[in-house]
Amino acid sequence: MGMLLRAVVLLFLVLTAISGIRRIFGMLVSSGRDSESLNSSGNMVKDPVCGTYVSPQTAFSARNEFFCSEECRTKFLTPR
Ligand SMILES: [Zn+2]
Repeated sequence: MGMLLRAVVLLFLVLTAISGIRRIFGMLVSSGRDSESLNSSGNMVKDPVCGTYVSPQTAFSARNEFFCSEECRTKFLTPR
């Protein structure tokens, strides 16, 4: 009887340890996903003139395109 109780306690401890390890790994995996989604949700757009990636919040915009500078926007809008 005592042996069975000890076996149950041991099993419980092992399962607790496994779930704890899984939680740690899950945190590591999810934190990795978070940083990736943070990068992709940064919404960086490519300047079609010079190829620089810019944030729409700070970029110069024209015709649904975004530019790193006034100069690039002017180049894009000015036909050659
Ligand atoms: Zn540019």
